Amino acid sequence: MTLADLVARAGNACEFCGAAEGLAPADVAPESDAILLCATCAGDNAPAGHWRCLEGAAWSAEPTVQVAVWRKLGEIGEAWATEARDMMQLSPEADAWIHAPAALTHRDSNGAVLAQGDTVVLIKDLPVKGAGFTAKRGTAVRGISLVADNAGHIEGRVEGQRIVILTEFVKKK
Ligand SMILES: [Zn+2]
Repeated sequence: MTLADLVARAGNACEFCGAAEGLAPADVAPESDAILLCATCAGDNAPAGHWRCLEGAAWSAEPTVQVAVWRKLGEIGEAWATEARDMMQLSPEADAWIHAPAALTHRDSNGAVLAQGDTVVLIKDLPVKGAGFTAKRGTAVRGISLVADNAGHIEGRVEGQRIVILTEFVKKK
């Protein structure tokens, strides 16, 4: 979304409190989406009472705004905020966004972050169950894939076979 599109969607006003001054886009992670916020709402120093604006913003039909409001209400931790959060009618899109599992970080034996397609080297001999061979220490495994739901597992091809390898037994090359 371009800044012009964002400003148009927001009606040139802060999507939390409606202020018209000092507007700038604020990213809503992890998708490359943003909402338009005033400097007060984007900063950390808003007076506590300022956040009552979220009770109105919670009714936005825009999924991105819903996600941002829902998160902000969660940070506030006062009874009214918890109540406003419970009352929110999240769109299916916002609901899926909020409840999506956070992406896992895969790390090698030294704590280095592994990425899809990396080359790793085995740091010990690994018997491959069911395949009847041992993947030798020092073997380079090219083009690894990260196992989405397990930060301790990667997949790679060794001796022509695709195997699951524990991240604790590899070193990034
Ligand atoms: Zn604002």
